[in-house]
Amino acid sequence: MGVKVCKFGGSSLADAGQFRKVRAIIAADDERRYVVPSAPGKRNDHDQKVTDLLYLSHEHARQALPFDDVFARIRLRYTQLITDLNLDLDLSSQFDGIVLELSAGVSADYAASRGEFLNGQLMAALLGWPFVDPALCVVFDERGRLDTQATQRELSRTLGEHETAVVPGFYGSTPDGNIKTFSRGGSDITGSLVACAAGADVYENWTDVSGMLTTDPRIVDNPHNIEVVTYRELRELAYMGASVLHDEAVFPVREAGIPVNIRNTNDPDHPGTMIVGADHASCGDAGTVTGIAGRKNFTIIAIEKAMMNAQIGYGRRLLSVLEANDVSFEHMPSGIDTISVIVADGQLEGKLDTVLEEIRSECRPDTLDVHHDIALIATVGRGMSRQPGTAAKLFTALADAGVNIRMIDQGSSEMNIIVGVEAEDFELAVRVIYKAFIAASDL
Ligand code: ASP
Repeated sequence: MGVKVCKFGGSSLADAGQFRKVRAIIAADDERRYVVPSAPGKRNDHDQKVTDLLYLSHEHARQALPFDDVFARIRLRYTQLITDLNLDLDLSSQFDGIVLELSAGVSADYAASRGEFLNGQLMAALLGWPFVDPALCVVFDERGRLDTQATQRELSRTLGEHETAVVPGFYGSTPDGNIKTFSRGGSDITGSLVACAAGADVYENWTDVSGMLTTDPRIVDNPHNIEVVTYRELRELAYMGASVLHDEAVFPVREAGIPVNIRNTNDPDHPGTMIVGADHASCGDAGTVTGIAGRKNFTIIAIEKAMMNAQIGYGRRLLSVLEANDVSFEHMPSGIDTISVIVADGQLEGKLDTVLEEIRSECRPDTLDVHHDIALIATVGRGMSRQPGTAAKLFTALADAGVNIRMIDQGSSEMNIIVGVEAEDFELAVRVIYKAFIAASDL
């Protein structure tokens, strides 16, 4: 029998109705043997996530302010779930314990981790499965970095003792026994680690959308779903703002070659999106473009210098200025006598004048121009490299729409063409690229 590891996000566990859907999903497939729950999320737009309430309680406790009201809301979330689901579970002594710990000055990580810790117990009671505390098998080193090897060793050993288990997401512990959490959204990482340790055939990541969309639905109405995306395409799209999975969750499963299936708890029959390695069988029939994503708020610093191409170390001098000012850059397209760097505005905050001054003195450019309000759009597709005319089609679509292209960068992976456009043209550009490549496949 195969093994599927299922991570359920907070919105999939926000109330009893959602928990029942989760129970039905697990019951529908015997291979779903390990479950990684988040803490209860928002039930509606005005609600708060349990994790946020825990951070808030901790902050109040830290400032010696009363936190009874906030904590009462956390308590109520769980007791309501227990009552509505008719579970034989009493968490009251644990709540009392956490209140005492908060007053005694536990860490923020410890406080936040209790959301998953309690929800894991609830899920274990609902399914009648063993509860595995990740404090004992997700290992961080003394400096708080995940120790992947030790984690794989401990998790595999523990899971080997259980046919089925619930392993709460988001936290583990350091060698001295302190609880440490991942960054926000980190239950995705736990799910990925559990999938590796269990030697899973697939890591199902259950959320509230039916996988990834080919572009931003705020820009294009009802964009298509992505059926299959490679880990690398996902990285490129996620970097440009299309995010369905915590960045760090990709690496463990990618290394182990375990596909990730993004699924919708509210539409369990939808196949969602498969994230796979480039050598996976389902990769073969890729269209030209898998997805289009983009971000605003970039600046281009453009330099021109006669005979730049013959000057040894010119690029290095330019980049050292950025480095000295602790500025990272995104792209560096160059011509014969020109070179530009594209930098996210956040990186340049309060530093632009100094950076320009230092470029002037270090690089002695003939001209130095700054273009603000640039948006970058990545058109990503593993099918591109096999398809002549992709760039022509992209640029024609933009030209026909009257969009002026300020920068072009095709990564050497040939899987991604990035264009820089004026921020005001951003939405139009995304729409026309979508129309040229993805909507066109409908015809
Ligand atoms: N509950 C944590 C958070 O809100 C972790 C997670 O949901 O993945 O960030």
